[in-house]
Amino acid sequence: LDAADAAGDGTTERAARHLVQPWPTAGQIGAEARTYIAYGDGIYITGAGGERLIDGPAGMWCVNVGHRRAELADAMRDQAMELSYNTPWYTMNEPSVALSERLAAHAPGDLNHVFYTTGGSSAVETALRFMQFYNNVRGRQEKKTILSRQGAYHGSTYLSGSLNGRPRDRDWMDGADGMVVKLSSPNPFRRPAGMSVEAFSDFLVEEFRETVARIGAERIGAFVAEPIQASGGVIVPPDDYLPRIAQICRDNDILYISDEVVTAFGRVGEVFASLDVFGVEPDMITFAKGVTSGYFPLGGVMMSDRLFETLRRSNHPDAMFAHGLTYSSHPVGCAVALKNLDLLEGGILDHARSVGPYFQQRLRTLEELPLVGEVRGLGLMACIECVADRDSMNPLKLDNEVGRRIDRHCQELGLLVRPLINMCVMSPPLVISREQVDDMVAILREGI
Ligand code: PLP
Repeated sequence: LDAADAAGDGTTERAARHLVQPWPTAGQIGAEARTYIAYGDGIYITGAGGERLIDGPAGMWCVNVGHRRAELADAMRDQAMELSYNTPWYTMNEPSVALSERLAAHAPGDLNHVFYTTGGSSAVETALRFMQFYNNVRGRQEKKTILSRQGAYHGSTYLSGSLNGRPRDRDWMDGADGMVVKLSSPNPFRRPAGMSVEAFSDFLVEEFRETVARIGAERIGAFVAEPIQASGGVIVPPDDYLPRIAQICRDNDILYISDEVVTAFGRVGEVFASLDVFGVEPDMITFAKGVTSGYFPLGGVMMSDRLFETLRRSNHPDAMFAHGLTYSSHPVGCAVALKNLDLLEGGILDHARSVGPYFQQRLRTLEELPLVGEVRGLGLMACIECVADRDSMNPLKLDNEVGRRIDRHCQELGLLVRPLINMCVMSPPLVISREQVDDMVAILREGI
């Protein structure tokens, strides 16, 4: 607000008149002013009034290589001048082929095929429609139920949005409810009182097993999971939980879709985290965000040889996967992603691996503060959860304004955080230095 006022150019009023922003409440529609950002450089963004903020959430977990990278701007311009667009229906372009080769080399196991989308929601939507197609072609028309989890966030299209697990994401929006079954969030901080983390993992696996038995494996098409539930509050699951669930999926012919929209491209130190960090070889991986560090809207789905071989051997080789987006395989997006991958491989991944543990360790010192119940995370993603008191560990309510209040204080001190009810989420650009981590933590300490 201050920034917009300081700029004095009426942008706030113009936005209120014409711009519908994501996720307003009904009462805020057309009335909510947001901090007006004019400029970005490295880990910093600058408000229109000239005040500089550390970009704590890296945009929306996406500006992985940092703001204002000339290499990415040049890649975009060069590609647009060479070929700005071609139809992916009847033609193809070189950057999308080159990017597919490089992504396949990084992806676990036999995930050698890529379908490009415009972002994460359309990637999840694509993976689910592919699961439906796959089962139709195999003559398993009943095998379509999708297993998701409380605390999940998978997107804002109809089907991807139907997977979301937080009540406030669902209560006022319609969804494909009959198609989705929600399981517990693997949140160790909120496990039943008196239960060990190991027993909690057993409980989650048993719940999964019972759900499959109750619904019937012949009716379940896919399990969709973020390796770390990001928007749910950076929920890092118990160590053995995901591999055990993956085994049950394999045993029951349920496709495991790993939603790496947040965790891929260096956020936890690897290009893809499913296998390297979490020990899971999924059937599909969805990605977006960090693939272009947010410079261009691009996402995609990695799919396995196994899926394609099954389709080829089916009785319906002519069945058409009638699914495509105008901007699938966009040449400019793929060119940016290639350059972004160069930057990640050229040192930023190594840097993220080395600074990640420092980031986690420094943030955890905030657990000394009476308001802070837990600081958790992995690599360069973390969450500070505020509690009413440390005996009960009940969430601190304050009209669901805790995160926003902390954000307001931190913005005054030079840091943008992502508020989530009683939590603050942090996922800075991967290029953040140790000194800048110290700055972040000092501001958070004062702001909280
Ligand atoms: N999946 C996950 C895990 C996400 O965090 C998000 C967005 O935050 C999405 C999917 C949706 O991606 P997009 O906003 O690019 O459609």
